[in-house]
Amino acid sequence: MTNGTKKCPDCAEEMVEGFILDMAYGGTLVPRWIKGRPEKSFWEGVKAKGKECRSVETYRCVKCGLLRSYAVTEAGLPGIWGY
Ligand SMILES: [Zn+2]
Repeated sequence: MTNGTKKCPDCAEEMVEGFILDMAYGGTLVPRWIKGRPEKSFWEGVKAKGKECRSVETYRCVKCGLLRSYAVTEAGLPGIWGY
């Protein structure tokens, strides 16, 4: 993803970078995008180890509030697995 200001597709206003914070039992999680479909794992809830994992950046339009998410950067697993 190239740098530079992102524009809202609806109203062409500036979009500001941020991220969605997931509230999880016992803490907060920054979301990750995982390739494929979720598989249940008894120990971890949803199995994600060994899968392609990317951090999610979410941009918010300053005018209409539209959110757009980009999963660009490869990242490790967050949260309860250890930041
Ligand atoms: Zn907008």
